[in-house]
Parts: sequence; structure tokens; C-alpha cells
Amino acid sequence: MKVDVANGAQDVMERRIRIEDWFRGLPVVTRLDVAPDAVTIICRGLSGNVTAIRDAEGLVLCDTGAIDTCETVLASVREWEPDAPIRAVIYTHGHFDHVAGMPLIDRDAEARGAPRPVLVAHENAPRRFERYRRTGPFNERINIRQYSRPGFRWPTEFREPDVLVRKSHRLAEVGEAIELRHGMGETDDHMWVWLPKRRLAVIGDFYTWAAPNAGNPQKAQRYVIEWAETLRAIVAAGPEVVVPGHGPVIFGREAIASVLGDIAAWLESLHDQTLALLNSGIRPSDIPHRVAPPEHLSDLPWLKNNYDDPEFVVRAMCRLYGGWWDGNPAHLKPAPDDELAREIALAAGGADRLARRADSLAKEGRLRLACHFAEFAAQAAPSDLGAQATRARIYDQRLKAESGQMAKGVFRDAIQEAESRIASPGGELRARSVKMK
Ligand SMILES: [Zn+2]
Repeated sequence: MKVDVANGAQDVMERRIRIEDWFRGLPVVTRLDVAPDAVTIICRGLSGNVTAIRDAEGLVLCDTGAIDTCETVLASVREWEPDAPIRAVIYTHGHFDHVAGMPLIDRDAEARGAPRPVLVAHENAPRRFERYRRTGPFNERINIRQYSRPGFRWPTEFREPDVLVRKSHRLAEVGEAIELRHGMGETDDHMWVWLPKRRLAVIGDFYTWAAPNAGNPQKAQRYVIEWAETLRAIVAAGPEVVVPGHGPVIFGREAIASVLGDIAAWLESLHDQTLALLNSGIRPSDIPHRVAPPEHLSDLPWLKNNYDDPEFVVRAMCRLYGGWWDGNPAHLKPAPDDELAREIALAAGGADRLARRADSLAKEGRLRLACHFAEFAAQAAPSDLGAQATRARIYDQRLKAESGQMAKGVFRDAIQEAESRIASPGGELRARSVKMK
């Protein structure tokens, strides 16, 4: 299906197209005029959008695209403005899908005999890049699992920023101020870019056409209430155009206030419910079962649980305000998982009985419990092909019941692991390569 890139926001908001179909129908990159002398390169797939702003001194880019799109992004920018040097690059935040094109941009400057662009990022960005350098193989595995992309490769090159921003910053003015404002949200190094004269806000992953990635189970801390505060501040500035980190550009003050306001309200509600329960003294492990997003904000086309999950957001807040302990004293210094599984199998009369129980729970639709029993069975008897087959079957059912990419990725990985055990019983697990189903 061919999509109308310019009117994407309206089409999705008025339910003429589902956001997932809009993304599916997108070309690799599309260049869109978003304000006078400003274009956004809308990117498909894992790549963040890139915005180019032209002034008398040259170009300023907000973000750079991902490793597999940055060349096409740069070509599109150069088609629009063939000559002017890229004088500065601003990172909205340090995630790989927004910064990986930087080495290419530097090489482009070198080839033109121009100085390297000034790189502007938040002061927490260098610490992020240091963490990425330390955890390359770990991050590669996490992302293969999260996105179910066996070919995913973690970038190894991260250029150090030249200018570090703390709270806010005004880029040397050439015709018009470009204001950078820090806010915590998906990351602690996030900024949004504000051009007051053009009423243009480039807000990175403060909005991505999905319920916020504020809980991500496999990644570093996200900041829920600060995220909401930033969205409120963006709306209060009064933009006429908002460029999100991914997906269609939003035009019009009313649409912007409606979308960003709903996202803020969703975050505030999850935050306040979680905090009230933490303060009430119940076990943190019980809290995710008692919190839900407000009814009136569920099923909005601009607030879909197609990536993260509100349950994960609640857990992330429990971790932020407390520690990693879930409140169950047995979990403070627990027995190893496989030892516990073997004892449970012994008490139940064998791993096969646990697997059978898992199957009947799954048939009743009690998938959360079924997964516990399937895990116990497979951990008690890892080379039992029946237990592994049950495990693969139940996670397949679980996968089909999920809407969020992150949960799907983890369950798909469990299926793959069980299938790999079946393929080579007793052998070492082969390096994970997630198969798309
Ligand atoms: Zn992103």
C-alpha cells in the first residue's frame, strides 16, 4: 500500500490507516518540507527521522539516521541542498538509530574539504557511549532479541561531542535561534530542538507513534514522570509542527496538543498509580498486576502498545524508586533457577507432569501460569524433548497473544532456544539467531 507521507499524522489520527500499515508502506526515506528552509527525512524501519535546517552559514542536522539508512538520508539531504556545509549536528539522544550516521557525515565533510561539523549533545551522552563500548556484545544480543533481527550489529564507533549541553543551549545564532532543551524520558541524555520563529519542534523519541518506550525490560532506566513533564513543556511552547523520532510529522497546534497531551496523561496516570501502591507498602511484585492505563486512553491510534508495555513501565518505576528486589524474601538471595526447578519436579512427580500441567493451563488460556510450568519443566530436564516441545508450543501461543514488539521478541527467543535444544539434544545451545515467524 502506498502511503501519503505528508498527511500521515492526520490519516492515522482519523483512522484512515493504521500506524503499522503506514510504516509498512513507507519508502526507505522520504523528504518532507516541514518549515521554511527545513526538511525532515522520514525513515522506515529502525532508523530515526532526520531533520535538516538551512541558514546563512550552512546546514544544521538533528540526528543522523541508523547505520543502514544514513547513506540514503545524506543523499536526500544533498539532493535538497547540494553545496552548503553541514556546520553542526545535534543529537536528540544517543540511541543507535539516531547517531550511527555520524562517521559518514564526518567523512562527507572531509571529502568536501570542509571542517567536521560541530557535534552537539547532552552532557550525559559521552557516559552512554562509554557504556556502549563496554557492553557491545551484550547490547548486540539484547537488540537481536528485542527486534527479532538476527542480522543486527551493534555500532562500535561513537564520536565524542564537541559541545555538551546541560539544561538548555542556544546554538550560535545565524538568522534564527535554535534552542536545545534537555528533558529526561526514554533516555537521560534526551533533548528537544525548538525553533521559535518557525514554530518547529524536533522532539526525538519523546514521541514515536507508540505508547512510550518507558519500561523496556532489557535496557537501562527510563524516566516516566520527567517524560510527561517534557511533553507538557513542548506543548506549552506552542509548536505548529512537531517532528517525532519516528513516524509521521504532526502539523497543527490542536493535533499536537491532543497527541502529546494524551501521552503525558498516560504516563502521569501510570506514575501516580504505581507511586501510590509503593507508598501503601505492598510488595513491588504485586504492583504491576494492579495498575492499568486509563480506559479513555486505551486503543487510541496514536497511543498503541505495539512496542513497549504498560506493565514494563510500572516495573521500571519500581526499580527507579526502589531497588531491583521484588519484595518476595525468597527472591532476595534465591536458589539457582535450575535447582529450584528440579525440586519442584521432584515434588510434582517429574518434569513431564509439570509439562502436562503447563499444557492444560495453556488450554484454559492461563498463559502466564502455563509459561511458569513450562519453564520449570524445561529447566528441571533440559534434554527432555517433550518438555522443550511443550515450551516452544506455549511460548508460540503467548507470542500470538502479545501486541508489543519487546514482549514478542523475548517470547520468540524462548521458542528459538527450545527448538535449538530439540535440534541438538544435550548439546550446547547454538549462538542465538532468532527466526522470524
Ligand atoms: Zn529512536
